[in-house]
Amino acid sequence: MDLIALESSVTAANYDPLPVVLRDAKGVWATDTQGRRYLDMMSAYSAVSLGHGHPRILKAMMEQASKLAVTSRAYHTELLGPFLERLVQITGLDMALPMNTGAEAVETAVKAARRWGYARKKIAKDQAEIIVANNNFHGRTTTIVGFSSDESYREGFGPFAGGFKAVPFGDARAVEQAITANTCAILIEPIQGEAGIVVPPDGYLKDLRALCDRQDVLLILDEVQSGLGRTGRWFAHQHEGIKPDGLILGKALGGGVYPVSAFVATRDVMSVFNPGSHGSTFGGNALAARIGLEALAVIEEEHLVERSAELGGYLQDRLRAMRSNIVRDVRGRGLWVGVEVDAGVVSARAVCDALLENGVLSKDTHGTVLRFAPPLTITRDEIDWGMERIERVFARAVH
Ligand SMILES: *Cc1c(COP(=O)(O)O)cnc(C)c1O
Repeated sequence: MDLIALESSVTAANYDPLPVVLRDAKGVWATDTQGRRYLDMMSAYSAVSLGHGHPRILKAMMEQASKLAVTSRAYHTELLGPFLERLVQITGLDMALPMNTGAEAVETAVKAARRWGYARKKIAKDQAEIIVANNNFHGRTTTIVGFSSDESYREGFGPFAGGFKAVPFGDARAVEQAITANTCAILIEPIQGEAGIVVPPDGYLKDLRALCDRQDVLLILDEVQSGLGRTGRWFAHQHEGIKPDGLILGKALGGGVYPVSAFVATRDVMSVFNPGSHGSTFGGNALAARIGLEALAVIEEEHLVERSAELGGYLQDRLRAMRSNIVRDVRGRGLWVGVEVDAGVVSARAVCDALLENGVLSKDTHGTVLRFAPPLTITRDEIDWGMERIERVFARAVH
């Protein structure tokens, strides 16, 4: 049996992968079992923002794995303090709570926001509300899919937790109208990734910040995908010069090798937790902390944020200049670009398959948008290599 058939015979069908079996990868290049080489323009939804097998990450990981890895939080380690200290310095916030996956960090934010609402705003028991956006993506736990607007994420998984109210994304007025005395937080992606790399109108985050200050509501940003340099700033909210009360990070924080996530917040928010109120066996273990610390150092010392801004502009310009009658829109920030295709003519998945055959790894989202999010370590020459293939695929669609 071939490996794809084997995998589908023993794996739940919760994904529909592209027909390629990857064997190894280094930097921006991946190789399949037939020895064919691909330019990775997906980087595992930003989890591999530092590139595959970054030598500094691997070295830190190997060293730490053989020294001390998992202890649980029943004990202190030499690494958790230094890791979270760096994280709060970079975010400009006060405290951080380490978890593993993005969804867990989102759950942490939900818990923090609700407790804060009861303790500080004196919201009546079990009445706290969190405002979210339509077309959001915050992960896959039952609480989180319960406030998704995508039926395929929800169908058959109810009953869902209450306490969430959805409003259109990018419309601060709609948020304002949805706020009540029971609202404890707004939870939003500053740029919606899974929805198709949707950039809100200028001023949206600034308006939300002002609204939250006025109404005594927490502004919590999910930057699991948009954070850590992806958009050409350390965090997407910095494009509008604002600071959230709570920030959710993950994906790239694990250096491309390990799940590391965190909820970072003000002291006021984080002080709602006390022993017993939250936890994770693996969250913040010594190996995770060492990798997270090294990932932050690599992003900083290799100037990946600046690279993302500069090369992202270049990639976007080249994608916009493409001659193709199937492109409806090109949008994004930094090295994070969505190309929306005309669904009446071609499916984004078919374009993905064609790109794969031409040696470029991409992924469609919602059937109509191609996503280009290469490792931030990509060079201009490598972008040129990829663009040559991308242009070829899109040009063929011109009739
Ligand atoms: C990927 C993602 C998550 C979920 O992260 P997991 O590690 O898959 O649980 C949450 N929020 C956003 C914005 C994401 O892109």
